[in-house]
Amino acid sequence: MTSDLVHHGESFDGTPLGFATKSIHLGNGVDAETGAIRRPITLANAYALPYDPSDINWSSSDVNLYTRNGHPNQRYLEAKLANLEGAEDAVVLASGVAALAATFTTVLNRGDHAIFSDTTYIAAYRLLNQILPEKYGIETSIVDTSDPRNIADAIRPNTKLVHIETPANPTLKVTDIEAAAKLAHDAGALLSVDNTFNSPFNVRPIDLGADIVIESLTKYINGHGDALGGAIATRKELTDQIRFTYQVNYGGIISPFNAWLINRGSVTLPLRMRQHNTSALAIAKHLESLPQVRFVAYPGLESHPHHDVAARQLARPDAGFGGVLAFGLDTDHEGHNRFVSKLNVITSAVSLGHDESLIVFLGEDDERQYLYPPEFHRGFFRLAVGLEDTDDLIRDIDHALAEAEL
Ligand SMILES: *Cc1c(COP(=O)(O)O)cnc(C)c1O
Repeated sequence: MTSDLVHHGESFDGTPLGFATKSIHLGNGVDAETGAIRRPITLANAYALPYDPSDINWSSSDVNLYTRNGHPNQRYLEAKLANLEGAEDAVVLASGVAALAATFTTVLNRGDHAIFSDTTYIAAYRLLNQILPEKYGIETSIVDTSDPRNIADAIRPNTKLVHIETPANPTLKVTDIEAAAKLAHDAGALLSVDNTFNSPFNVRPIDLGADIVIESLTKYINGHGDALGGAIATRKELTDQIRFTYQVNYGGIISPFNAWLINRGSVTLPLRMRQHNTSALAIAKHLESLPQVRFVAYPGLESHPHHDVAARQLARPDAGFGGVLAFGLDTDHEGHNRFVSKLNVITSAVSLGHDESLIVFLGEDDERQYLYPPEFHRGFFRLAVGLEDTDDLIRDIDHALAEAEL
């Protein structure tokens, strides 16, 4: 029987449990009504009120009241994620983008300044580059955070947040989290890290000094490509504010069904990450050996400019560099599309962290092209290596190259 100690991530003698044990047992428990050893999905919108409800705080998130204020399936998942990230608390929202927006709108006020990575998820880029400055009077600077000196140079007296994405989507640039945390803290600012490409199995930014970790649960943590969700792991003081601002008042709550699905998917996170890591490294090395391949960007390759930083940041001996890589072929626009059309196993679709491998051709006219390294300017692929047999994926790539006459 899963004991209370296990729910706090500790074994009988107080030693911390391993990542796999915690991924399985945290957030699960015995259902009090039926004795089921799996917690049920609670789909109600509202909960019974006490005899005299008049002194209830209708915006409260910690009692069962109304599902937008918080619900049991959300809380089970939050308890697990907080522990896996090494954070005091976690709040789970409707999507990764909701988690980014919640962080920015909660932490930043009119007149504040934020620094952010030059490659970030597109919604983070639009929020920080355009929407928050234009609508809410927040100043922002976009810098290449993979060189910490650029962060230092961008700091202003009103800097309140440094937001980094590492590895960055889609360039796979890596930022030194410890260095970024030190610079942010010396300036009295917070550091938030979008850790989606790594998941807490590979890297735990809080251990490296970050204040806030954001995960798109849609990707590795759910792992099965069938539910959207986002998480923010940080201090309880901040999660309380985020629940009040973004969840109760902006309405960014996750659905109970998605929270349940993600909790279920996350049980196998460590097994899946090991396979994504191993397979992506093998495929990156294979691609690097092919004459038709113009470049490969994967932090696990020694040729990656930030390989040493990426290796230093790994959270455990069996961690790796994630499942996503970028590469370009020595061909034109049409040749890239022809290659994708000849793939049989790898699916042409956006997203990543699914069980199946996904590839997307990012052409030459992305709105952020000017921020990418030059090798990305001629069109490139983002390949999210899935859980299929590595040999099947390599054979699929080789076969498509031949069929596309490249
Ligand atoms: C997908 C992704 C997001 C956005 O997550 P959604 O769940 O799709 O809203 C944010 N950051 C990174 C790095 C991502 O890959």
